[in-house]
Amino acid sequence: MLKSLQSTTTLHNGVKMPWLGLGVFLVKDGEEVVSSVKAALEAGYRSIDTAAIYRNEEGVGRAIAESNVPREELFITTKLWNANHGYESTLAAFDESMKKLGLEYLDLYLIHWPLPSKGKYVETWKALEKLYKDGRVRAIGVSNFKVHHLQDIIENCEIKPMVNQVEYHPRFNQQELHDFCKNHGIQLEAWSPLMQGGLFDEPVLVEIANKYNKSTAQVIIRWDLQTGVVTIPKSTKPHRIAENADVFDFELSQEDMDKINSLNQEKRQFADPDEFNKE
Ligand code: NAD
Repeated sequence: MLKSLQSTTTLHNGVKMPWLGLGVFLVKDGEEVVSSVKAALEAGYRSIDTAAIYRNEEGVGRAIAESNVPREELFITTKLWNANHGYESTLAAFDESMKKLGLEYLDLYLIHWPLPSKGKYVETWKALEKLYKDGRVRAIGVSNFKVHHLQDIIENCEIKPMVNQVEYHPRFNQQELHDFCKNHGIQLEAWSPLMQGGLFDEPVLVEIANKYNKSTAQVIIRWDLQTGVVTIPKSTKPHRIAENADVFDFELSQEDMDKINSLNQEKRQFADPDEFNKE
């Protein structure tokens, strides 16, 4: 299952998604994102995670167009921004993202945040269902959805999300949400898997990293994979992009997995999806 950077998980509609990809949040459009995505593709990555709000879809598209990797080998994710919740506005925002990416189809489209204050995520999901049925996107999912948001979707829509991308790292492993997703065949995906660099000095992780002769980042990424969670660490530096993908030649023992699990404080480091309403 976890043999190489090209290893995939199978989503509930049969589509295969790489376990590991590159995240490009806060990577500048133009040269910075183009060179990061190219470095990732050269290192063997096939999955790239962007979003309309990252404002770098054009650069991601340029890097893809300039690479020699066949389109069908790639798995490209983008996300619908909060300002565009609603049926028609979602369809229009999707077209806009596709134009920027320069792609004929997308692999995964996510609702970026549930935005409960607006009360439109069910209507928005119906637009994603249309895009999926029309063959414009191979898989559809959500991001930052808690159990109660997912329940709303499941009760009121036709298609279950294939993916839920959420904050997930050793300080916040969302066990209840993870169990719910597993029970419904929804693949959990980790954002800020490295807690944006905030965990590199954590002594338990440093000790485990030394034991396997790996970096702390590699240990965390390996822990994601062994917990059955897709992960998309971000870096713009080619040597770190390669380092983050060099996690398929070792396996954490159950004892070490338990030690990492025990770091959980069930505490978010970033925004709470029930409160986040930035547009
Ligand atoms: P991350 O946890 O991946 O940490 C990235 C930071 O860690 C980088 O800035 C880099 O400085 C550092 N780093 C990376 N690899 C390293 C290494 N090997 N050694 C030392 N330092 C290293 O942070 P992130 O970017 O917030 O999250 C990853 C991706 O998740 C994003 O790029 C984005 O695609 C996605 N994301 C999604 C949401 C959402 O709401 N859906 C929110 C945040 C992030």
